[in-house]
Amino acid sequence: MSSIKEQLIAKNIIKDIFDYQGLDHDIVNIYTYFENKFQILLSRYADAYNLDNCFFYIKDSYSCNAFASKTQNYNIISITNAYPILMKDKFNEKFFSNIINITFINKKSISDAYRDLYADPTFQFNNFMLDCSIQYTFSHEFRHILQFNSSKISNDFNYSENLDTRNFSIKNHAWEFDADRMASYEVLKYVFSVHRKMKVKSDEKLICLIYIALSSMFITKDLFYFDVMNQIDNKKYTINKQDFYTKKYSHPHPLVRQYNILEFFHDSIKEDFPNLDINILELLNNVLGISELYFDSLIPSQKGVYSYFEEFTNLSNEINKYNGELYDYAIKDNSIKNLLISSGINLED
Ligand SMILES: [Zn+2]
Repeated sequence: MSSIKEQLIAKNIIKDIFDYQGLDHDIVNIYTYFENKFQILLSRYADAYNLDNCFFYIKDSYSCNAFASKTQNYNIISITNAYPILMKDKFNEKFFSNIINITFINKKSISDAYRDLYADPTFQFNNFMLDCSIQYTFSHEFRHILQFNSSKISNDFNYSENLDTRNFSIKNHAWEFDADRMASYEVLKYVFSVHRKMKVKSDEKLICLIYIALSSMFITKDLFYFDVMNQIDNKKYTINKQDFYTKKYSHPHPLVRQYNILEFFHDSIKEDFPNLDINILELLNNVLGISELYFDSLIPSQKGVYSYFEEFTNLSNEINKYNGELYDYAIKDNSIKNLLISSGINLED
């Protein structure tokens, strides 16, 4: 046992560790995979940000959820024991067999790059998307840890990613807004690292990876938006969409969050890789196209019920306006302001 773990247990800060040893071999493999991913990420990011007393663990709880907390100077990230099983199930290879049809909406050079990826035995769409989703969730939670540490108040904090319908505060929405932005940027960095390691590289292949990575974040949000994430019988999956809202509940609406992620992701690409020819409409078309192909495959009985593109465009004005409000609030919030200044981000405009 690590010493932080012993301290946390002795102080009764964590008492609900999920123990997966002794379960079926396949299940142990799934948990080991997720635990390693989160632990490696946390130790890397804790080093990079000079944060002590960081700890990751899998919590005993039966719905898909992730948490960040700061308790008595310990920085803790956790996921529930349902998260690895449900995510592994939703990102199963069988739901990604028709993703290659995305080639039909693209020009030849991009279609060819998609086909090259599809034919590459070292690359799997579903695994890459699962890893992007894990990177997103980890980075989102880690940003909460940074927010907690950047604020002067010495309170304990505990953020859960499950929607709490009783509480609304603009500050919480702004903190989610900020955490999503950092998370999408970290996913972008992850995409570049995957592309860098590929034997054959090209701008077109990198663009496809960018499309697929953003689709992974959208699909992760949609699984909650459509209320499918916690369903376990894939023959009976049904979509129950959450009605649109702005100033309500603990987290912004998934469409608001997707828009924010899309915009920040696109801005970051333009900023870091100005030579990469990425058009925001093509980006959105690919992401919505991949999401639709995925959900058609996941829930064939409700094919096409979510006129997603229409919804996204119809609400765009309202979403933009609210995201603008969250941005204005965020850059005045002390915690976020300190973080942005320390990372050299220009706060004008
Ligand atoms: Zn959050």
